Amino acid sequence: MTSNNPQTREWQALSSDHHLAPFSDFKQLKEKGPRIITHAKGVYLWDSEGNKILDGMAGLWCVAIGYGRDELADAASKQMRELPYYNLFFQTAHPPVLELAKVIADVAPEGMNHVFFTGSGSEGNDTMLRMVRHYWAIKGQPKKKVIISRKNGYHGSTVAGASLGGMTYMHEQGDLPIPGIVHIAQPYWFGEGGDMTPNEFGIWAANQLEEKILEVGVDNVGAFIAEPIQGAGGVIIPPDSYWPRIKEILAKYDILFVADEVICGFGRTGEWFGTDFYDLKPHMMTIAKGLTSGYIPMGGLIVRDDVVEVLNEGGDFNHGFTYSGHPVAAAVALENIRILRDEKIVERVRTETAPYLQKRLRELSDHPLVGEVRGVGLLGAIELVQDKATRKRYEGKGVGMICRTFCFENGLIMRAVGDTMIIAPPLVITPAEIDELVTKARKCLDLTLSALQG
Ligand SMILES: *Cc1c(COP(=O)(O)O)cnc(C)c1O
Repeated sequence: MTSNNPQTREWQALSSDHHLAPFSDFKQLKEKGPRIITHAKGVYLWDSEGNKILDGMAGLWCVAIGYGRDELADAASKQMRELPYYNLFFQTAHPPVLELAKVIADVAPEGMNHVFFTGSGSEGNDTMLRMVRHYWAIKGQPKKKVIISRKNGYHGSTVAGASLGGMTYMHEQGDLPIPGIVHIAQPYWFGEGGDMTPNEFGIWAANQLEEKILEVGVDNVGAFIAEPIQGAGGVIIPPDSYWPRIKEILAKYDILFVADEVICGFGRTGEWFGTDFYDLKPHMMTIAKGLTSGYIPMGGLIVRDDVVEVLNEGGDFNHGFTYSGHPVAAAVALENIRILRDEKIVERVRTETAPYLQKRLRELSDHPLVGEVRGVGLLGAIELVQDKATRKRYEGKGVGMICRTFCFENGLIMRAVGDTMIIAPPLVITPAEIDELVTKARKCLDLTLSALQG
């Protein structure tokens, strides 16, 4: 981006000379220079040019309680002075990790009382893969290794995470997926439903799970992993028929069900977990992001009691990370969950802000560029199309990126996934800030439409 501030140019030079940014075209970013974000408060960010931006993405889906909460900084500082680090490998533990495991068990679905901590969501899913295979080996069924996942799902970017995910552009770089991971269709009616009704398509997509189990052989399948609502794939809300049919299939076959709750967890849907929202009763849940509101990295895997009972019979689990259960991260997570509970933030999302956001967002459906508006909780998606009736896209125009650029220029962060605009604001967003978000979104849709016509 062009700059009026000499300091911005200095920072951009450092980026160009020394930094390699995640999920970026290095050369393009070098030429363009990143926007430098300097500080933040509540739902707003400021860049080094003095622009104030409404963060409709809560960072990367993570800043649940909003920016600038001193309590989290104080919790980190106190813990760093007391015990900045100690490992959990030597039959040792420390108070913050134990207290956090208990608090997570309190808010997790009934019967999910144990947590294995990691440094990120990707590491949580790596842990899951290892734990699922270990579990079946203990049960005398070591062949049950295959994990079924979904196309266009996102489960992180380690080798296992990217393999579990169904992003073809990630698979193409590095010979992924690794063996033992297979993918089925996603429940994305708007993009792939064809002539079926949403509910017909939901049943069809769910039935792909049963077909894959039978194709691979139930004796070879260890688990099915899915996000309750696909986030990075484009805020894909399955048709109402999808999860009930998946539940029937899971009940029929002896495999584990893993919910990747990295986005849905900790209140995003108005329930503590996406699996509460859909009543899914998983064996394991991957967590990260909202766990610490992104103030510090931390992830984990919540494990159901019946699975833990089996693992208890298996001797050593030969897996863990230097930073598993890091005391500073645990102290920050504890304070984050305390705020979510004491300030009744999840309840407020459910009863007040989610219904309001969903109502206001749907008002954008009348816009000529909008083919569908959908959402649950504080998650939303706006599909940009050339033809509303046939759901035909503007081919090859990069409409999503055009719209995203207008958003940034007009003080709003909306992310583009292809031609789907998505939002996931901090859970503390107020009705007045929702009004601002929707007003800005409409303005950017107008600008995008003019650009296409011009
Ligand atoms: C972000 C994300 C991950 C990966 O988490 P990292 O902390 O980036 O490793 C995994 N699953 C889902 C659903 C995510 O959105």
